[in-house]
Amino acid sequence: MKTIGLIGGMSWESTVTYYQIVNEVVKEKLGGLHSAKVLLYSVNFAEIEAYQANGQWDESAEVLAQAAENLEKAGADFILICTNTMHKVAPQVQSRIHVPLVHIAEATAAALKEHNISRVGLLGTKYTMTQEFYKNKLIEAGIDVVIPEGDDINVVNDIIYNELCLGNVLPESKEKYLHIIDNLKQRGAQGIILGCTEIGLLIQQKDTDLPVFDTTQIHATKAALMSIED
Ligand code: GLU
Repeated sequence: MKTIGLIGGMSWESTVTYYQIVNEVVKEKLGGLHSAKVLLYSVNFAEIEAYQANGQWDESAEVLAQAAENLEKAGADFILICTNTMHKVAPQVQSRIHVPLVHIAEATAAALKEHNISRVGLLGTKYTMTQEFYKNKLIEAGIDVVIPEGDDINVVNDIIYNELCLGNVLPESKEKYLHIIDNLKQRGAQGIILGCTEIGLLIQQKDTDLPVFDTTQIHATKAALMSIED
């Protein structure tokens, strides 16, 4: 079995879910007392969030690259950055290690293709929704991306940082998200990417008739399967 390296803590609320999923998938596939081999390097999210807000992406890349180097030294066979947003610095992190970095947007694009989705709504932080680093991975895979309009971008973003990353899951915020998902559907979205690793705490498939693609589920499941493949 291969060892999964997780760079977590962004936020730790969703890292808990990663840990749970990799273990559940390994248990389901191998049975008995099997569990995932995991190394976790959990960062201080306050430090990372301040770098994001100040546009200091190179500084944040350095923190994650050092975490990745440490995971590699400790024996990780491949590494995951447990947040969509911080894939903005994925190329810098990958350039510092010799083991693969499993890209969350590439894994998500593959899941969308399997479901024949050609136009998708993307929910995430303002960085993920409005910048190119994430959407380009989907566009390269031939998938059109629609994002919320106007102030809805701030609504989606602020609920992530001010509530979900602090462990607060509020019914009124769920209503706001469902309304925004409905708007994306009106604009032709055939499915919705929960493109922030905490959104799955708020929105699940049972809440909407549009297919939802939870990036935490997709990314962690891929890691678990990679860890047990021959
Ligand atoms: N976990 C979130 C994401 O997947 C947001 C936290 C962060 O900015 O990294 O994008």
